[in-house]
Formats: sequence, C-alpha cells, structure tokens
Amino acid sequence: MAVIKRFIAGVICPRCAEMDRIRAWEQNGVRYRECVNCDFFEQLAVEDDAVDELTTRVNRPDETPAGDELQPVRILDPKGRP
Ligand SMILES: [Zn+2]
Repeated sequence: MAVIKRFIAGVICPRCAEMDRIRAWEQNGVRYRECVNCDFFEQLAVEDDAVDELTTRVNRPDETPAGDELQPVRILDPKGRP
C-alpha cells in the first residue's frame, strides 16, 4: 500500500519555524504530519471529520417531511359560494 506524502504550502513548522517543510499523509484512518527540517512529528485522528460529514447528510432529508406536515391545508372553492 503506497502512502503519498505531500508538502503543505504555507505551513510553518511549530518546532523549527521553517515554512514549507511540513509533509502530511494519511494511513489507516490517521493523519500524520512531519517536518523534513527537524524532528517534528504528530498524528491526528481523521474520524472526527468523517462523523461531521455524515451527520450533515443525514439531517437534511429528515427536515423535508417535517416541513410538509407544518403547512396549513387551504381549500379554495370560490364557486361554492351562493
Ligand atoms: Zn521543523
């Protein structure tokens, strides 16, 4: 399984303060970042972003039927008047 490490443009390393030295990649649901200029290395869980995205998609379809139930029913029948 090939892992693609990409440089993040404009990111400053928090340890050595050098710009454009941070590489980032994802592997097994974990996001990694490392600096090629010093020993900086960190890992972040990617699962939080996926949960937010799923919640947004699930909530939207549920709002549509609820809105239809709240609409008042109007019966327009002008010809029914004597
Ligand atoms: Zn660094």
